[in-house]
Amino acid sequence: MRYESTRGNREYKSSTEAIIRGIAEDRGLYVPVEIPALPLKIEEMRGKTYQQIAFEIIHAYFDEYTDSEMKSCIEGAYDGKFEDPQIVPVKKAGGAWFMELYHGKTAAFKDMALSILPYLMTSACRKEGEKDKICILAATSGDTGKAALAGFANVDGTEIIVFYPQKGVSQVQERQMVSQEGDNTHVIAIRGNFDDAQTGVKKIFADDEMKKKLAAEGIKLSSANSINIGRLVPQVAYYVYSYVKLTEEGALKEGDPMNVVVPTGNFGNILAAYMAKEMGLPIGKLICASNENNVLTDFIRTGVYDARRQFYLTSSPSMDILISSNLERLLYLLSGRDGKAVSDWMKALEADKVYEVSKKVREGLADFYGGFCTEREAREAIAALWNEEGYLVDTHTAVAYKVYRDYAEETGDETPAVIASTASAYKFAESVADACGLDVGKVKVLANSAAEPTGFDYVKALEKATGVRVPSGLRDLEDKPVLHDRVCAKDEMSEVVMEVLE
Ligand SMILES: *Cc1c(COP(=O)(O)O)cnc(C)c1O
Repeated sequence: MRYESTRGNREYKSSTEAIIRGIAEDRGLYVPVEIPALPLKIEEMRGKTYQQIAFEIIHAYFDEYTDSEMKSCIEGAYDGKFEDPQIVPVKKAGGAWFMELYHGKTAAFKDMALSILPYLMTSACRKEGEKDKICILAATSGDTGKAALAGFANVDGTEIIVFYPQKGVSQVQERQMVSQEGDNTHVIAIRGNFDDAQTGVKKIFADDEMKKKLAAEGIKLSSANSINIGRLVPQVAYYVYSYVKLTEEGALKEGDPMNVVVPTGNFGNILAAYMAKEMGLPIGKLICASNENNVLTDFIRTGVYDARRQFYLTSSPSMDILISSNLERLLYLLSGRDGKAVSDWMKALEADKVYEVSKKVREGLADFYGGFCTEREAREAIAALWNEEGYLVDTHTAVAYKVYRDYAEETGDETPAVIASTASAYKFAESVADACGLDVGKVKVLANSAAEPTGFDYVKALEKATGVRVPSGLRDLEDKPVLHDRVCAKDEMSEVVMEVLE
């Protein structure tokens, strides 16, 4: 399988090269020259484990890896680190199926891909005879950072630098990152929002001068964001897995359509669902759920991507994004792989923060439904699922659930729907506790604290009130020492990277 850039420079790379580089030389994103078909029929996948299905799906894209190389990547990634032996349990609640993607080490769905990326990357380096040290740069809205740090900590031949928006992540998310151990890990807060962090990282990737200087020191930059194809492909596997599970449960007959609902930020997760559909998985609608930063809702409805709007900090911070990187891949695929058009749209986005896609792309968007959810509606969704169903969801998953209800009501579509449940409720304990009716007074009593409750007190109180177990990665977090405390301006990111690497 070869990989090409979304911006049309027609340089073909192997999967291993694409994974090591992260981003193409013309600043485009790598996509496979063709989307492979499902390697097995649904009935042949029945009864298979998550690991077995992931092996088949990932190997179909990354076929340079030998069977035994791929097997050891899968085994290293999806092991006892996951607190549920099924890896991705699929649970029914509120008239939908919740695909729980958050049972990995850092309690968010980013673990699904970032548990395997370091294995894919180091294996790729061995295969390519790569001598340079690989420095992973990541911008994070909270969850990618910790998952990438946990995946790459102390991995030989790598260094990892994570930038996060100083005021844009929850206290729990921040402590998860700044308490990260490992000689090769670096965590830096920036004075800015997630888009600033992401733009800064992309600028560094495009800075030839800087790359030359680093090359002289034997260092190559790569990405752990979902712009890296090695992040995206492992995410395709869980859509296939949950379809198979639903047929095992009798909720679907083989070939019946299944809708998917994805709380969306950078468009990586829902793009993986689209790729699963293109592989032949019977997916009906792809329901793209946004919070009040609803640029994608408008885009799906109108074909105009307009980022000239107010940016909101919401209780679902991993979706507080106005520039969705992975949309570029969808535009490329829907435009019939028109690199010139994609490149023009991306230039317009950079210069004017707005572009309008062609009729062809707009027609392709018919597979998608876009909806958004306000802060109040997200709180109500959490309360309804908890009070009526005894099912606890985080703020991002709540956004998806609400948009799913809107979709079902608006269209009357009764196709079984799988909702991507992207984080443990405890990562956003303060918002979830509040939605469940735990006011400050109750939290103080439950957490045994006299002072204003911290993010950690909310975790304790929510566990006492609901009886739902706190994931082990989030337990006793407040006792973990802060090992990283650096803050920089958003235009100092390059200097910081050079300093860290020297
Ligand atoms: C990253 C993240 C999302 C958004 O996923 P994208 O692939 O960026 O669209 C949603 N929810 C949570 C909890 C996340 O961490």
